[in-house]
Amino acid sequence: MPDLYINGKWVDAAGGGTRTVLDPANAQPLAEVAEAASEDVDAAVRAAREAFDAGPWRSTTAAERGDYLRTVADGLQERRGELGRIESLDTGKTVAEAETDVDDITNVFRYYADMADKDAGRMVDTGVPNSISRVVYEPIGVCSLIAPWNYPLLQMSWKLAPALAAGNTCVIKPSEVTPLATVELVKIIEAAGVPAGVVNLVLGDGPGVGAPMTSHKGVDMVSFTGGLETGKRIMATAAADVKNIALELGGKNPNVVFADADFDTAVDFALNAVFFHSGQVCSAGARLIIEESLKDRFVDELVERAGKIKLGRGQDEGVEVGPMVSEQHRDKVEGYIQSALDEGATLRCGGKRPEGDQYRDGYFLEPTVFDDCTREMTIVREEVFGPVLSVETFTSEEEAIALANDTEYGLAGGVWTSDASRGQRVAGALRHGTVWINDFHPYVPQAEWGGFGKSGVGRELGHHGLDEYRETKHIWQNT
Ligand code: NAD
Repeated sequence: MPDLYINGKWVDAAGGGTRTVLDPANAQPLAEVAEAASEDVDAAVRAAREAFDAGPWRSTTAAERGDYLRTVADGLQERRGELGRIESLDTGKTVAEAETDVDDITNVFRYYADMADKDAGRMVDTGVPNSISRVVYEPIGVCSLIAPWNYPLLQMSWKLAPALAAGNTCVIKPSEVTPLATVELVKIIEAAGVPAGVVNLVLGDGPGVGAPMTSHKGVDMVSFTGGLETGKRIMATAAADVKNIALELGGKNPNVVFADADFDTAVDFALNAVFFHSGQVCSAGARLIIEESLKDRFVDELVERAGKIKLGRGQDEGVEVGPMVSEQHRDKVEGYIQSALDEGATLRCGGKRPEGDQYRDGYFLEPTVFDDCTREMTIVREEVFGPVLSVETFTSEEEAIALANDTEYGLAGGVWTSDASRGQRVAGALRHGTVWINDFHPYVPQAEWGGFGKSGVGRELGHHGLDEYRETKHIWQNT
């Protein structure tokens, strides 16, 4: 079946291009999908433009758009198992994780469905006699939504649900590495009766498909989640037309552990913070910043338990962590491991591909811990995006804060302490968009997500996540 969705029809790529999608656990082909050409992007943007300017979407009420989103949420739950399996095969993550992603995005669609008609604007007291003044919100127009490979369904839904709730039309592109579940999401949107042209799907890589989605004159907004360097390029391209822009970029996230932390819980969460989804998480707690007096005991325990993590195919029973998403990415992470060795960090565990026939053809890497790290080292400064933990130590609260903030990123961080005041104090001092005290990784659709510094521009989720997709208009009337 053709797998580009343009103006309500499933079509092949204009030039007939295709791409083979691989299973990262064994490098076997999973599917052959269309590789769009710039003509397809043009057709998709025109369809979205037409649906926005003249089509039925703009004349829908906010409550009607909410109903569509609710139907999409129901469709996601009906196909939960199937979507979870496809996402697991495509990304390498476990089926349980992928099913949790489906539950999470169901909640995101429901959250924005409920919000769609709850916040139309506000009256303003001008202080001027005989005037009526109100502030109203309107959709921005045509939005290009571009997602990465680590959370294909989730990252796309964080954009798509608020964009549609606000009344925009969209051209969407998943990563070329992991396109499969997004095709199914669009089928669910189609089945929900969302009118033709409102959501258009193009598949393909960054240069061929992503770039024209950001430079096209018919696009009013670009929302992108991905790497820092790509984000900079997109920002520069969007600047030519002063397009609206939202960027969710990388992170180099500190996990700060004080000596008074609950030991077992802090070890549990420190492992999960960095090794969950093989560390391919923008908020991965890849920098353990630990009080000197606790370090040896904590790292010994961590290393012992890291060695017991069960690697394997995400679809197999009992597997805790899957492979890297691609050969290219595995090679990149191995480059970072080599840099740590060259720069003098102490390898405590992992650092290599696991042995065994079951791992031979896939892109697996062992959970890796480097001790004796310093802030100058490449693995401490750059986003590795793999199962690699660096360990640094501190002796005072001030030093802990200074280390945690010594990054060009600012996405997320954790603080572990049994002193509630200290937890709040340190959380307040961290220059990161999300801070967890005695936890790591949880999020809810009601709370904003995004980064300080080079972790991005704007916020997803929460009220702000809807505002990203709205223009604000002031209407003044003399009576
Ligand atoms: P990437 O930047 O390589 O690609 C992301 C998407 O952009 C893909 O769909 C790709 O095809 C597209 N793209 C590439 N070049 C483009 C261009 N010139 N113009 C337009 N589109 C282009 O990122 P990735 O490797 O897929 O994802 C990993 C990165 O994503 C990590 O840095 C991670 O931290 C980040 N990420 C951030 C968040 C967050 O919420 N902040 C969440 C998930 C992932």
